[in-house]
Amino acid sequence: MSENTSPIIRGRYAPSPTGDLHLGNVRTALLAWLFARSAEGQFVLRIEDLDRPRTRPGATERMLTDLRWLGLNWDEGPDCGGIFAPYTQSERTAIYQHYLQLLQEKGLVYPCYCSRAEIAQAASAPHQGNEGPRYLGTCRTLTAQKRREYEQHGRRPSLRFRVDATRSVTFTDALCGPLSQHVQGEVGDFILYRADGIFAYQFAVVVDDALMQINQVVRGADLLTSTPRQILLYEALGFPIPMFAHVPLMLDEQGHRLAKRTQGMGLAPLRAMGHSPAQVIGQLAASCGLISHNQAITLNDLRAHFHHNQYGIIRAISENAGIFP
Ligand code: GLU
Repeated sequence: MSENTSPIIRGRYAPSPTGDLHLGNVRTALLAWLFARSAEGQFVLRIEDLDRPRTRPGATERMLTDLRWLGLNWDEGPDCGGIFAPYTQSERTAIYQHYLQLLQEKGLVYPCYCSRAEIAQAASAPHQGNEGPRYLGTCRTLTAQKRREYEQHGRRPSLRFRVDATRSVTFTDALCGPLSQHVQGEVGDFILYRADGIFAYQFAVVVDDALMQINQVVRGADLLTSTPRQILLYEALGFPIPMFAHVPLMLDEQGHRLAKRTQGMGLAPLRAMGHSPAQVIGQLAASCGLISHNQAITLNDLRAHFHHNQYGIIRAISENAGIFP
């Protein structure tokens, strides 16, 4: 009898509670759920609320309500717990501290005293679709004396990851295909810990996905160019690298990306108009080519459509998946 040794798929959706989910976020959640559930996989919900100043009160609860209304379910999450709890990043800082120390012990981290503006930009990078200027390594080789001087002037450092200049990171995204990035040349040494005392997204997401044994990362295409940095961290920490699928972002009628601050593009107006979850799922699925016509479909039927066939999803998602019908 042959043994099935392929690991259980573990996917996740990891929203930041910086506002209510817009339909693009909801579609990404739907796709992440479908990728995992169509392969009988497990699904994890994690709340990425490290950037406290950008976190909106009540946003987490409203996100969970929206996802549940649609019928999405998860095996582990902030509301139901699980063996890798906690599932809310702000409750995991001791864990990040531990892994930061491992990197420090390997000599891969150094303090950077560069301007606040640059640090703020780096911290917000995953949400701006803009990597900001390449960091030129100004503080890479500061002498101990110079560091002391900065500290004496009251400047608090961020902590940067020392990127190997001889490395290009190459990986194959399930949807976007092969990608190669010379991280030092294009991004430079990047921030792990911000000067304001907040762990950076790039670092926390890797620690969490690895410790939560996520082997399938499905998320918005705005994070495609973050992936090479994250792969460097997976390698440095000795974690296995998951499969990545970066799904198209939803655009508004002018061709702009939706933002959480854009009013009226969430589920609430559709609910108010009396749309059912099956109608919204049908609209979302049609908007990215998963089904050919905009017609109501239950989550279960959509999942059954791709049963054991993630490649069916990959083939179906159309290249110009964009505007919501
Ligand atoms: N928290 C990120 C966001 O809401 C997503 C991170 C990820 O999926 O890796 O945009």
